[in-house]
Amino acid sequence: MVLVFAESPRGNLKKAAFEAVTYGKKVADLLGTSCIALTLGSVKDAGELGRYGASRVLNVADAALSNFDSQVYAAALADIAKSNGASVVILSHTSTGKSVAGRLAVRLNAGLVSGVNGLPTASGGNLRVKKSVFSGKAVAEYEINSAVKVVSLMGNAVKPEAAGSPVPVENVSANTSAGRIRVKEVKTQEGRVPLPEAEIVVSAGRGMKDPTNWGIVEELAETLGATTACSRPVADSHWRPHHEHVGQTGIAIRPNLYIAIGISGAIQHLAGVNNSKVIVVINKDPEAPFFKAADYGVVGDLFEVIPRLNEAFKKFKAAN
Ligand SMILES: Cc1cc2nc3c(=O)[nH]c(=O)nc-3n(C[C@H](O)[C@H](O)[C@H](O)COP(=O)(O)OP(=O)(O)OC[C@H]3O[C@@H](n4cnc5c(N)ncnc54)[C@H](O)[C@@H]3O)c2cc1C
Repeated sequence: MVLVFAESPRGNLKKAAFEAVTYGKKVADLLGTSCIALTLGSVKDAGELGRYGASRVLNVADAALSNFDSQVYAAALADIAKSNGASVVILSHTSTGKSVAGRLAVRLNAGLVSGVNGLPTASGGNLRVKKSVFSGKAVAEYEINSAVKVVSLMGNAVKPEAAGSPVPVENVSANTSAGRIRVKEVKTQEGRVPLPEAEIVVSAGRGMKDPTNWGIVEELAETLGATTACSRPVADSHWRPHHEHVGQTGIAIRPNLYIAIGISGAIQHLAGVNNSKVIVVINKDPEAPFFKAADYGVVGDLFEVIPRLNEAFKKFKAAN
């Protein structure tokens, strides 16, 4: 059986949860077994996961799970995986998934590959999975040969696909014993879609010259319904908050559209964004390395280009 942990912060299923179940269904089909989704805490519309291929949806609605705690989550997941005889456990490669996957793998004595980005193949009882390595410069294939296998799936690696219909949610209990570290309080950032889940990202770099110039970036993001990001020196200089920093040492993202404004395109920046579906680069230097990775490029002064682009998008939206 393939068990998929479907994340639901504040009770709402994430897009990543539908992606993980879609992936889990495909892995289950490959192995000739079923895909079961697991939600933790109080979750709205968990049965919807049936639409994406979960034959059953299990929920552990224990108060101990209402605040995310990686130790408690790993204990609950391991318990459910063991009691249901899971051979593969799939998580999303989010901050939650990343902090649970290692602990879970230890509890299950399982091989773990984190951040996989393509469908696996099966060879004997083993599973072969692919992931990007060396800052996106190469693709590595790993074979997991342990009895139980754990993988975490990169965001946007698969598109959620309808493969069934909603199923009733089964309430089950699991070990939720507290770890040695207790979560006392969780403060969440409200507002735009979090960067790892954003479909459109408007990102800006040192070419902006000064933090007071960010208004035009914010406006463009507002028009496009995008999330804002930035290069590392911008975050290091406190021009923008650190949670916006993308790249090798920041967040790695795969949006459908990444607009890079006044960013040179250093290899460390590209490492976190070059899996974006479409990259648009705006830079006044025609030799900027980012143009090599771009699908579309505008050579020009961002202070002229961005307001005009924003007006054009607004007009387009108004007319459609
Ligand atoms: C170990 C290590 C890890 C790193 N990790 C990261 C990381 O995770 N993320 C990251 O981003 N960086 C990272 N860096 C830093 C990286 O090497 C670059 O220094 C950084 O990405 C450059 O940021 P930038 O493009 O904003 O600035 P710059 O390199 O200064 O580029 C600014 C760009 O703006 C353009 N520009 C200037 N004015 C205008 C204008 N008016 N209109 C249009 N364009 C204009 C310029 O032509 C230039 O291309 C790392 C470095 C190291 C050594």
